[in-house]
Amino acid sequence: PRLVDRPYNTPPMIERTLAALETAGPNEVMVGLDPDGSVAWRATANDVLGRIGGWQVRLRASGVRAGDRVALVLPRGPDLLPAHLAILASGACAVPVNPTLAEAERERVFTRAELACTLTESERPDGPAQPSLADVDEARPALLIFTSGTTGEPKGVPHSLASLEANLSGLAETWGLSADDRLLHALPAHHVHGLVLGLYGSARLALPVVLTPRFEAERCLASLDAQRISVFMGVPTMYHRMAGAQTRPELRHMRVFISGSAPLSTRDFARFSRRFGHEPLERYGLTETLIVSSNPLAGERRPGTVGLPLPRTELRLADDGEIEVRGPGVMPGYWRDEAVSDEAFDGAFFRTGDLGRRDERGYLVIAGRKKELIIVGGSNVLPGEVEQALCDEPGVDELAAAGLADEDRGEIVGAFVVAREGVEPHGLERRLRARADESLAPYKRPHIYRFLDALPRNAMGKVDRRRLR
Ligand code: AMP
Repeated sequence: PRLVDRPYNTPPMIERTLAALETAGPNEVMVGLDPDGSVAWRATANDVLGRIGGWQVRLRASGVRAGDRVALVLPRGPDLLPAHLAILASGACAVPVNPTLAEAERERVFTRAELACTLTESERPDGPAQPSLADVDEARPALLIFTSGTTGEPKGVPHSLASLEANLSGLAETWGLSADDRLLHALPAHHVHGLVLGLYGSARLALPVVLTPRFEAERCLASLDAQRISVFMGVPTMYHRMAGAQTRPELRHMRVFISGSAPLSTRDFARFSRRFGHEPLERYGLTETLIVSSNPLAGERRPGTVGLPLPRTELRLADDGEIEVRGPGVMPGYWRDEAVSDEAFDGAFFRTGDLGRRDERGYLVIAGRKKELIIVGGSNVLPGEVEQALCDEPGVDELAAAGLADEDRGEIVGAFVVAREGVEPHGLERRLRARADESLAPYKRPHIYRFLDALPRNAMGKVDRRRLR
């Protein structure tokens, strides 16, 4: 089954975006919040257009031409989105940089990207100017993202305007997004989730975006009401924290909570749904493929699944269960790295490195990452199945499993537990061991339990299993 399917006879993404902003004119399309939730700044569509033009003047003065790459190390202020759109409208390629990278990491990205120029906080756009479309080529890389690298060296992932448009129009249709929505944006703005879905996807529709400086559960819940929010995009950690928060928002304008970037546990799905009367809508994607599947907006949202393929996107399972994807959102190959690219594809299908299966309704279930498979004396254990079996134990706030080196069996299973406040670890470990004996085959049962104050996670809420090890 497919969600919806329609050919993409739409204008190029950047033309469509400028047109949408022109239509929105005096309407407010961006709001920046202070950490306390009060409004720090507002921008109308006309303001954004003026800033896009202003950045274009700036880029031209720096000698940037179509096809060049421009890095952005900008704060979450009123200039961030206009700077991105100015780069795209100039036919150049945006290279978003995680502002928390260490100097050496940043330099490595800069060198690899072969930049024409870098926009930093000290840079300002020229005064408001009319945006113009320079030599825009839909097929050229327009966005180059260096992957978060939970599994090694960062790799450059190029996407063209055509692939962004195909993905964003499919998502807008699937999630019913329009200029009548209002998005609360609490995600980092240098990844697909926060940047492509949150910023580009909204600008393309002139959908107003409320930017929070960072995610804080109570504050965020209050802002959903105060800012009349209808769409929220978050990572599972955010849903976990909101489900446990004190604030009781009315959510009068709320239409959909979207979750992705990491697995949302069935337990958090249930807790969140019970608590707020909204079932999170889970979707799945990678930097390399953009979004490939989603639970339906109107149909059944199946917890523990990532739904059905997006329009024109094909998913298949290799013999070992690896998910492979073909579709308009899939990158053509890694940036200037043919050897790695060759390995990453089987013909036109991108190998995701994720293991999956289809449930009885055809919904995709992510079983885990191939590289995170724990091999205990030759038998395969997925961290997810251990986590699923144990995370419901009362007293457990969060739990993650990872493979630990073992001389005898190659690897053994380790369980890393964040206990709820006031819960005594020894007793909890005993109960977890008893539960594992009941619900898991012997080779899957954790040998070692470690209690932590928090699980190590990256900015996208993914558990960092290397650090756990
Ligand atoms: P990134 O390229 O950094 O966005 O990471 C992509 C990876 O995140 C995928 O290969 C998956 O392992 C994981 N991922 C993204 N969305 C989901 C989801 N809904 N459920 C489980 N894993 C996910």
